[in-house]
Amino acid sequence: MKIDKIVFATGNEGKMKEIRMIMADLGIAIQSMKEAEVDVTIIEDGETFEENAMIKAKTIAQALKDMGEQAVVLADDSGLEIDYLNKEPGIYSARYMGEDTSYTIKNANLIQRLEGVPDEKRTARFVCAIAAVFTDGRSFETRSTIEGRIGYEERGENGFGYDPIFYLPEYRMYSAELAPEEKNRISHRGKALEKMKKILSTEL
Ligand code: IMP
Repeated sequence: MKIDKIVFATGNEGKMKEIRMIMADLGIAIQSMKEAEVDVTIIEDGETFEENAMIKAKTIAQALKDMGEQAVVLADDSGLEIDYLNKEPGIYSARYMGEDTSYTIKNANLIQRLEGVPDEKRTARFVCAIAAVFTDGRSFETRSTIEGRIGYEERGENGFGYDPIFYLPEYRMYSAELAPEEKNRISHRGKALEKMKKILSTEL
């Protein structure tokens, strides 16, 4: 089956930029949901990153199929797992303390919950799962992580979300101190997208 385009299930412009950069050499059009004119409500009620990514990709692939399109839909789901907090906030990372609560407050809260916890118990990771669903029914999944530790204060101006409290011992830097290209190269999302690109290069 001839696939005409890749649709990425996000409304986030930053993510669209990143995926366009990584997937550019596949030589196929990459559209956002808006560009593809898909408007569906997605209920993310999975219990894992993989389940949520798959729910998003399947819902949109079905909508595109109903519109008579031949496409592959990519969707990602990501978050922060803190070992000392039993992997919280995990799949609830965006919703932690409420969707509209600022990350200054969320980050301060997490640092406070780790008060007195020594370095070796502050381990954490960003996780990213990516699902690909073709309108002909084929589906694939990739997952990548980046390991680090929760710091003792917020540092850095780059990135977003929990980046200012995520310390990368290997780089001796906080995630929010990395240049954007460097972060894309080593991040959970960058690595999961690279894995997916390898799969797509044989499946398209
Ligand atoms: P979603 O995958 O877009 O639903 O995002 C999940 C949430 O996880 C984000 O809103 C952030 O809170 C957090 N998150 C995921 N990736 C990163 C990252 O690279 N840096 C900082 N926070 C992240």
